[in-house]
Amino acid sequence: MKDLIIATGNKGKFQEFEYLFETYSPAKNFAENLIFAPDIAKLIAMPGGRQVEETGKTYAENAMLKARAWAEKSGLPCLADDSGLEVEALDGRPGIFSARVAEGQEVKWILNELKNIEKLEDRRAKFAASLALCVPDEFILITEGFCNGVIIKEARGSGGFGYDPVFVPDGYEKTFAELDSKIKNSISHRTNAFLNLIQKVKG
Ligand code: IMP
Repeated sequence: MKDLIIATGNKGKFQEFEYLFETYSPAKNFAENLIFAPDIAKLIAMPGGRQVEETGKTYAENAMLKARAWAEKSGLPCLADDSGLEVEALDGRPGIFSARVAEGQEVKWILNELKNIEKLEDRRAKFAASLALCVPDEFILITEGFCNGVIIKEARGSGGFGYDPVFVPDGYEKTFAELDSKIKNSISHRTNAFLNLIQKVKG
């Protein structure tokens, strides 16, 4: 396909997708030109500007809502994601509400929620992501991906976004915010969902 809209307002996420498309060779033939959604929001008069309301009950539903809305309005293929952090000790919260529980204050919020939990093994969590690829009048594909780890007790590192400074993925000692972005992008929930998507498209 020639053009593919990446339906996110988050430049960091857009750059992650650019990296994924460049890195994983089967994806190189997939889309020639990735479009950052806010760059065309005005051109296609997207209602509400760049935001599509996330009214779904699952990551997959929210990703579908976003992919469909942008694809229908633009007539172009569109890729959207929805993701979140699920903490075992919080029965899977914040989940789909990960951005909304503490806009911009995620680290402070999660450290406070887990302040009485001492042992690292009791602070297990996973990132989850769903991707939706919508090609107008043709198909919509959904995939998911995960990344397991623990929530440490103090923030470390300055890279990434959201909960990255307190999340140490299994098999590593550094947080997502300390690790080289290439490492994060080789093991993250979005990467796993992306690789599943490429497999499905090939199939
Ligand atoms: P959305 O997928 O943009 O709706 O928001 C998901 C929210 O989950 C983000 O705002 C972050 O708080 C959190 N999140 C999702 N993926 C990551 C990640 O890779 N690192 C850190 N936080 C993340």
